[in-house]
Amino acid sequence: MCGIFGIAGHKEAARLTYLGLYALQHRGEESAGIVSYDLGRINAHQGMGLVEDVFDESAIRSLKGPIAVGHVRYSTTGSSLERNIQPFLVNHKKGHIAIAHNGNLTNTSHLRETLEEQGSIFQTTMDSEAIVHFVAQSKDRDYRKRVIHSLSNLEGAYSLVMLLDDVLVGARDPHGFRPLCLGKLNGAYVLASETCALDLIQAEYIREIEPGEIVFIRDKKLESMKPFPEQKHAFCIFEYIYFARPDSNIFGKNVYLTRKRLGEEMAKESPAECDLVMPIPDSGNSAALGFAKKSKIPYEVGMIRNHYVGRTFIQPSQFIRDFRVKVKLNPIKDVIKGKRLAIIEDSIVRGTTSRARIKTIRESGAEKMHMRISCPPIKAPCFYGIDFPTKKELIAANYTVKEIEKFMGLDSLKYLSQEGLLKAMLLPACEFCTACFDGNYPTKIPKKFSKKMLEKKR
Ligand code: 5GP
Ligand code: MG
Repeated sequence: MCGIFGIAGHKEAARLTYLGLYALQHRGEESAGIVSYDLGRINAHQGMGLVEDVFDESAIRSLKGPIAVGHVRYSTTGSSLERNIQPFLVNHKKGHIAIAHNGNLTNTSHLRETLEEQGSIFQTTMDSEAIVHFVAQSKDRDYRKRVIHSLSNLEGAYSLVMLLDDVLVGARDPHGFRPLCLGKLNGAYVLASETCALDLIQAEYIREIEPGEIVFIRDKKLESMKPFPEQKHAFCIFEYIYFARPDSNIFGKNVYLTRKRLGEEMAKESPAECDLVMPIPDSGNSAALGFAKKSKIPYEVGMIRNHYVGRTFIQPSQFIRDFRVKVKLNPIKDVIKGKRLAIIEDSIVRGTTSRARIKTIRESGAEKMHMRISCPPIKAPCFYGIDFPTKKELIAANYTVKEIEKFMGLDSLKYLSQEGLLKAMLLPACEFCTACFDGNYPTKIPKKFSKKMLEKKR
């Protein structure tokens, strides 16, 4: 996953991009970067770590110009290396190209082979690099046609922003896997993964970039094209369940309200006999409110989060991940002791984090623990950008719900059904990709890729 941001037509373009990335930090904590363009000069600053660590005042001042793109990265393809930081920038015969990409392409190895046979030399291990090569390689004089040529080669998921010198490009793949929205600030156009980035810079929300749409922004004018055949929409449902920020609207609907509805739906499907409803903070908060409201059982904060610890999944090794789980959340013993709890969590992926948390709650004296998960069991890897890597690592792909319940030491464990999940959405069911639950991938997955993903042990 990643967060992307772009702005054109504002004298503080880089500073606003910096703020936008701040708002999108939850989408990737591994690296951050901004590229801006000013009167023939390209400026870039990037580094490993959080937005706050990568940029200081002098870096922002050095990023001159009225047009900029930015990226926060959470690597899913391409390892966590310095040369894989985005925006990825090249200088070629027709000018500069900088790209910031969210999503995973599914035909990467084919694209790479094709390009390498034609003489391209790859500098990174990122799938996104192929997009730039195709733009640079195209003989067309019209930059719009070069972009269309490039994107026409891609399969899989992409929401992206690109700088072609003084042109800002925004695009979303025809299935629309990942979000991308359009805003306006004093005549400048803004593109962002989520509306929370528009809110922070006080930009007005205009609309979603549509699936299959490409926008070209130059001199405060926007030109929109839809050059590709229509495809069935496949919005990532996991964005609503976990990934996006609750104060954002994505795909046109609010995330917090959606999560609350997930909780209500769970309360209908799998009520729990309990004294209080508590979330695993923060990802379970909104669903827990819905669950408590619907079941008319008091909501309590039973665990407190240490806000100085980043997201657990981003740590590469299992040892550090386990340690971070404990550092991050502490139960309030006086709330939990002797109580029958409904514990609400958004999802279980590998099962390791949840198990450690359940253990600390039990140790705090809980009488009964009924866990409710606001999505169905995750059984299939994601090839479109969410970090559900291999079947081996997905606990629900290998064990039954009863077995997981036992493994976690719970008195009961229930997942929301797929019907319930889709019913709770504020968009029609046909709009979504639910492949991580049912294995119905909306695009074809090349065998080489899927075999690797299904079996590889990281
Ligand atoms: P598990 O128990 O499977 O080890 O971890 C589940 C926890 O990870 C849940 O709290 C859920 O909110 C969180 N989670 C789910 N998906 C992702 C993801 O893609 N990235 C990160 N960082 N956390 C995730
Ligand atoms: Mg969580």
